[in-house]
Amino acid sequence: MAAFAAAHGRSPGLHIVLVGDDPASHIYVRNKERAGTEAGLIVRVHRLPAEATVDQVLAQVQALNADPACDGILVQAPLPAGIGKHGTERVFDAIDPRKDVDGLHPHNVGLLVQGRAALKPCTPSGVIELLDRLGHPIAGKHAVVIGRSEIVGKPMALLLLQRDATVTICHSKTPDLKDTCRRADILVAAIGRPGFVTTDFVKPGAVVIDVGINRVDSRDAVVGFFGADHPRVADFDKKGSAVVGDVHPAVAQVASAMTPVPGGVGPLTIAMLLKNTLTAATARG
Ligand code: NDP
Repeated sequence: MAAFAAAHGRSPGLHIVLVGDDPASHIYVRNKERAGTEAGLIVRVHRLPAEATVDQVLAQVQALNADPACDGILVQAPLPAGIGKHGTERVFDAIDPRKDVDGLHPHNVGLLVQGRAALKPCTPSGVIELLDRLGHPIAGKHAVVIGRSEIVGKPMALLLLQRDATVTICHSKTPDLKDTCRRADILVAAIGRPGFVTTDFVKPGAVVIDVGINRVDSRDAVVGFFGADHPRVADFDKKGSAVVGDVHPAVAQVASAMTPVPGGVGPLTIAMLLKNTLTAATARG
């Protein structure tokens, strides 16, 4: 960031569009704002009410497309239900692909499929970064990805494939899910179901990446995950909820390595967002 600021006389600008009142989205945006500011970006959050129309959200995106101080645009998903699936697609498609720091514009997804994207989706590229930095080889491994969303599962599979893994994508209609997962050297869970992946999904010694972020409001469930004496239960008693992943904590006894939730993939997703903003700013000059 410092090198960019020195060369261009300004810091890269990340602009986040936040529509509506979803509490989780507000927390995610706050975390992105804080991390971006700490890293030396100029971060601006543009808030629109939950009743905003598609045209109003589109107008905000178009204003940011035209703003020379804006290098990166992130529209926080999910948009309110009133925007609808078609409206959501129109909003995301309207983002200038050069400012698409989420890497989800069809132009950038096309480049991703061809292995030449500069702006890659943040969560899956964070997972690759994590595997690399911790020294877990990808090439030649069998990777199984549970989940096929546009934001995590599909791009995750593509990035693993580009790194020469043999990739299997699983979803809710996959038969023999456990058997398929048990063949994985690298197992990525991006499902959105607390503790769904249990020890019987995991080959001993596999590397397990838990993308899930799930809020749990039941004390019994938290005790079931961690055991009654675990500090996470005391934490639940203070807060009234807990954030858990898609992978049951007991999997740590079978896996050779496993990412924690919170604190694993989540922070890396934010780090990749900041990296994409710098990449976008540098490309624009
Ligand atoms: P989606 O709901 O879009 O996708 C979930 C996927 O899981 C779908 O492909 C679905 O299959 C599959 N699935 C659901 N139930 C089953 C099942 N019983 N067996 C097998 N597959 C199943 O979720 P996202 O991809 O957006 O998010 C997944 C999780 O990751 C969530 O917990 C989310 O909060 C978290 N997340 C974390 C991020 C981070 O920064 N760490 C960033 C983004 C998401 P089908 O397609 O057949 O319906």
